[in-house]
Amino acid sequence: MEARILVLEGDGIGPEVVSQAVRVLEFLSATSGIDFKIDYALVGGSAIDATASPLPEETLKAACGADAILLGAVGGDKWDSLPTEKRPERGLLGLRSELGLFANLRPAVLYSALASASSLKPSRVEGLDILIVRELTGGIYFGEPRGIKEIDGCRTGFNTYIYNELEIDRIARVAFEAARKRNKHLCSVDKANVLEVTALWREVVTQTAADYPDVELSHMYVDNAAMQLVRFPRQFDVIVTGNMFGDILSDAAAMLTGSLGMLPSASLDISGKGMYEPVHGSAPDIAGQDVANPLATILSVAMMLRYTFGEKKVAHAVEEAVEQVLAAGMRTQDILPAENSASFQRVGTRAMGSAVIQALEKQIL
Ligand code: NAD
Repeated sequence: MEARILVLEGDGIGPEVVSQAVRVLEFLSATSGIDFKIDYALVGGSAIDATASPLPEETLKAACGADAILLGAVGGDKWDSLPTEKRPERGLLGLRSELGLFANLRPAVLYSALASASSLKPSRVEGLDILIVRELTGGIYFGEPRGIKEIDGCRTGFNTYIYNELEIDRIARVAFEAARKRNKHLCSVDKANVLEVTALWREVVTQTAADYPDVELSHMYVDNAAMQLVRFPRQFDVIVTGNMFGDILSDAAAMLTGSLGMLPSASLDISGKGMYEPVHGSAPDIAGQDVANPLATILSVAMMLRYTFGEKKVAHAVEEAVEQVLAAGMRTQDILPAENSASFQRVGTRAMGSAVIQALEKQIL
């Protein structure tokens, strides 16, 4: 199988963490029968420096022609004073909207070796494995009308929370399909007792469920979902929700796992094409020092293998390799516990990438 991947390294630690993920792809290309054709393009601050645009035409064209995109992270102090529409983040938003990436998938998995890094007691989070499916291109973040205007002499801000039934049905289907591949439980999160738009959300998700009789569907109000996530998070398998609720709940779920450096994500279009990226930003404070954790980006490659290329076994092998490296005691500085640190092996970005490849070699070769 041939797989065309566009790599967008981005800014800050982006190039460092992405280069380790590319090493994993190159290893898999040589060993797993998938022929990864890798191309590079500019996005974010590095694209602004080279072309004055955070999303050059050439990058967009290359992204449209690729099967999947692997992105590092964008942004940094250097570009903070630019007007909003010219900032590095515009490059990401542009890619999401131009490519129709409406489904954001964020797993929150707690690796047993990192249980003590969670903000909750290990007994509460051991075995945690949640997938949050967030609608990414609609809802209150994009609804019109929006703005701030004077009404009766008083400045008034307003936004529009809007979803139509087609948008709700398509994100629900992504979530049901994902639940089907996991433990077959889907919890839809809304605020149907207060907001009509989410009353429609609940109605449509319930209708869509008829096509997935093997998946058990439940509904939860968002305030309760936030509480349950920190009270008893293991009750969840897959959560589906709108853009704003998903934004908040996925960050809360992320903290249950303890480290930003471990969290991958996928944003998918209707055909399964996707953009894969770590959840963290460009971390300018540690850029260029070979200390950034590359595991979130490597795990984003595992998501790419699973969701765009349907290569479940190879995806699992990459995740297993990460688990083994952690179990062997290797830690980048962000996941090195403050206590008892002498019993772990502190490694840099490149050494962590090499360790994952060695663990993969043992499984695949
Ligand atoms: P950040 O995620 O870059 O960093 C937050 C903290 O986590 C920092 O202390 C950093 O050193 C640490 N960290 C992050 N990733 C790490 C990794 N892989 N290994 C070890 N430590 C890691 O968030 P921030 O500092 O708020 O933002 C920095 C820049 O990144 C800003 O310009 C922001 O706009 C941008 N940003 C980009 C994205 C994206 O590209 N998707 C997301 C968030 C923030």
